[in-house]
Amino acid sequence: MSTRYDVAVVGGGCAGTAAAVGAAQAGARTVLVESYGCLGGAATMKGVSALCGLYTEADSEQVVFGVGEQLLSGLRSLDAVVEKVRFRGVVAVYDPEAVKRVLDLVAGRAGVDVLFHTSVVAAERDGSGLRSATLHGHGGSTVVEAGTWVDASGDGDLTSSAGASWRYGNDGHIQVGTLGLRIGGVPRDLTLSHDDLRAAVASARRQGSTHLDKDDSVMIRLPLSGEVGLLLVDEQYDALDAGSVSRAEIRARAKAWDYVTVLRTMPGWENAYLAQSGPVLGTRESRHVNARYRLSADDVARGARHDDAVARGSWAMEYHDRPGGASTWLPVADRGTYDIPLRCLMSEDIPNLYAAGRLADGDRLAGGSLRVMGTALATGHAAGVAAAAHVHSGCPPSAGDVRAELQRQDARLP
Ligand SMILES: Cc1cc2nc3c(=O)[nH]c(=O)nc-3n(C[C@H](O)[C@H](O)[C@H](O)COP(=O)(O)OP(=O)(O)OC[C@H]3O[C@@H](n4cnc5c(N)ncnc54)[C@H](O)[C@@H]3O)c2cc1C
Repeated sequence: MSTRYDVAVVGGGCAGTAAAVGAAQAGARTVLVESYGCLGGAATMKGVSALCGLYTEADSEQVVFGVGEQLLSGLRSLDAVVEKVRFRGVVAVYDPEAVKRVLDLVAGRAGVDVLFHTSVVAAERDGSGLRSATLHGHGGSTVVEAGTWVDASGDGDLTSSAGASWRYGNDGHIQVGTLGLRIGGVPRDLTLSHDDLRAAVASARRQGSTHLDKDDSVMIRLPLSGEVGLLLVDEQYDALDAGSVSRAEIRARAKAWDYVTVLRTMPGWENAYLAQSGPVLGTRESRHVNARYRLSADDVARGARHDDAVARGSWAMEYHDRPGGASTWLPVADRGTYDIPLRCLMSEDIPNLYAAGRLADGDRLAGGSLRVMGTALATGHAAGVAAAAHVHSGCPPSAGDVRAELQRQDARLP
């Protein structure tokens, strides 16, 4: 492993993987640092199994290509995706195991140096710029230098370590976290009934299980395993406080087992079992980078166009504001797309620091749209290409240059 790169990306979720691949495909020597032992982030580690933000809600038009399309194409080759499935919006349903394998291949093909089981624990500045970061793994600490940086850690660890400007949540609000559940033992030909689920939870509550605060959830049949994905267990906690997160994980796992007992009372679910929780509690929102532009709910609601657009969002503003509660759902204008400006991905105070995925800058409701994985693939791809262009020219690139390279990489922006 080298200790000097053109571009360093922190966090190997959808955003970070797309950023690293985009940067490497643009010719930058790129390292991708990931705390877990696989890529995908929430797509593989938080019990999420539907890619939102890939299609318009109005007519299911695919709006994210580039690295997003590389992921879809790899999933197709493993029969591990069902595309254009309509829930509230339009999604691609996938098997998380397959995402791990496909992203290994996509990153490997692009020539990205991937460092698993490694976390960024500190960062060092050089004047206003970010010079290096201290990585920690089982072998101890290493310092890596890079010309430009992408923070795709979701929690903003690099941003915070570098002393760049950030905020926790928005206006004092933070979305709830959820422990994803994968349930096995449900016959493949059984129709998944929300009425049965609500009735089963209501009956359990009448018998005293009042801690089961949610009585409905998405129910997703995974293409390969046939397991059913559920998002039933909500928790409110401070994502930056290890004690608070740990207590929430423990409460959530206990609740998950109680829910499984309830699920087994549903017709056809008698043999249901908990195939997997999480593996980790799903934090929807944590730090946000304060960027040069904050996308607003108004931008999303009216499908705003921006001269420096480098990606498109298409998912409604979906905001989960209390455990067990229904989420807010405010559609994009004409159920189409809105532009995401390059400025939303540029730290307001560290010129060589870019942000992507759920760190990209949006206000409370706009952030509820920006954060989803299809859109994270798009903002990640754009941030990685911008970081590569920046290191080549020695200054922040124009949006036009970023768009040109994105198009060369098949991003198919309008
Ligand atoms: C319960 C839940 C349900 C959701 N449902 C959906 C859904 O159905 N569809 C959808 O599209 N979106 C959904 N979302 C939203 C979506 O999953 C996330 O917003 C999206 O994954 C964000 O992508 P990301 O790459 O920015 O971050 P993440 O996927 O969170 O990835 C961040 C990565 O950074 C790594 N990391 C963090 N800190 C460090 C560090 N210091 N050093 C190294 N690595 C680090 C983490 O290990 C992780 O792999 C859901 C989210 C949750 C929590």
